[in-house]
Amino acid sequence: MRTSTPSGRSAHRIDVVSIFPSYFDGLALSLLGKARDSGILDLSVHDLRDWTHDRHRTVDDTPYGGGAGMVMKPEPWGLALDQLAAGGTRPTIIFPSPAGEVFTQATARDLATREHLVFGCGRYEGIDERVFEYARDLGEVRLISLGDYVLNGGEVAVMAMIEAIGRLIPGVVGNPESLVEESHEDGLLEYPSYTKPAVWREHEVPPILLSGNHGAIAAWRREQQLERTRIRRPDLLDD
Ligand code: SAM
Repeated sequence: MRTSTPSGRSAHRIDVVSIFPSYFDGLALSLLGKARDSGILDLSVHDLRDWTHDRHRTVDDTPYGGGAGMVMKPEPWGLALDQLAAGGTRPTIIFPSPAGEVFTQATARDLATREHLVFGCGRYEGIDERVFEYARDLGEVRLISLGDYVLNGGEVAVMAMIEAIGRLIPGVVGNPESLVEESHEDGLLEYPSYTKPAVWREHEVPPILLSGNHGAIAAWRREQQLERTRIRRPDLLDD
């Protein structure tokens, strides 16, 4: 069932499946909590163990072929995905994985346009590979990495993705102008920001920012963006 905002706009639905749902309690503290309260975001977090049927609520088992660690069993995932994709909405189903495509601002922009996202958080050595194959029958499947390192589970990666995606959903950030000038929006890093006082512990704000000359300020900021990007992230300029 889709929910609508007071303005009649259709809410973006996000479902998260995890064996540690309380990880996501923190989302209530941010702008996303407000978006949820106002109905812009229809965010639900589910415990994968609710789709188990044994006494121990088992979600993992030993890997076929041997090797260290445990693998997440396919059965609870299958039931979870069946339920969350019911109604034929064909959600975009995202499995965080260090072996996936790397998450970028472009990925966030793309996913912010989707009506229904389902995130499946892996743990242990990951999820039985057949779950990804099966999920393709229910929606578009994306394996997405937060970066080239290994986390213990998908929860932190999904929190980061939801925060990056959520703030691009219209209405979540009060002033949409503030999104336009941020790092990565135009392929460059953002210019430096300052606030009052003009001198703090003998460190001065660049005088151009106090000049009131908007053209000169815009040119200075652009220069700073290019310079920072050249020094800190030259790979972005190659792109
Ligand atoms: N054995 C897996 C491998 O080598 O690709 C790593 C499993 S990791 C210990 C457990 C879970 O953490 C993964 O299933 C995934 O959900 C999550 N995870 C770990 N690193 C991640 C990353 N860089 N980006 C996104 N998710 C990650």
